[in-house]
Amino acid sequence: MQNTWSIGPGRITVREGDITRLDVDAIVNAANSRLAGGGGVDGAIHRAAGIERLQAACRAIIREIGSLPPGEAVLTPGFDLPARHIIHTVGPIWRGGNANEPGLLENAYANSLRLAHEHDIRTMAFPAISCGVYGYPVEDAAQIALSALKRGVNQGLVQEAVMVLHGEPAYRLWTRAAEHIL
Ligand code: ADP
Repeated sequence: MQNTWSIGPGRITVREGDITRLDVDAIVNAANSRLAGGGGVDGAIHRAAGIERLQAACRAIIREIGSLPPGEAVLTPGFDLPARHIIHTVGPIWRGGNANEPGLLENAYANSLRLAHEHDIRTMAFPAISCGVYGYPVEDAAQIALSALKRGVNQGLVQEAVMVLHGEPAYRLWTRAAEHIL
């Protein structure tokens, strides 16, 4: 199940599936500020990449920067993944909407796209950042995410951005949002 929209010099695809299986230049991880791994998509990415090597790479980054603030992004190798790189970004925890959650979510997408561009990444895949345990209302998150991807692809930061949704209900919701925004 997937759908693709032409956006300026590139394209955006919305598809259902498991992000760890995608053969793209980079996949984005919805990480936490300590890059400590965890549940959800973060746990799946750690298992598929190889927990030991990915944790060592994440620990080295945290030794250098202390912690990764919400909205920021860093890069590691993809290790055992089909994807060559992982871009780790931290989405906001939903606290009711008055804690700059929309700005931070937008930054998570925009900074991931910018980092990808700096590393000559042309195809990248995103999970629905903050839409799991971080509790972001999905309709609002979809609007922010798709608008940020549209801007980045229009600017030529990457050639193709893929939104990967886990499960058919999420895929349908995001496809409806994409039909409005893209
Ligand atoms: P956050 O802490 O940012 O909310 P979660 O990992 O809890 O992150 O959830 C983010 C989204 O990722 C959720 O919508 C969840 O359904 C989805 N997800 C979980 N596993 C995968 C996977 N293997 N591939 C793609 N999406 C996934």
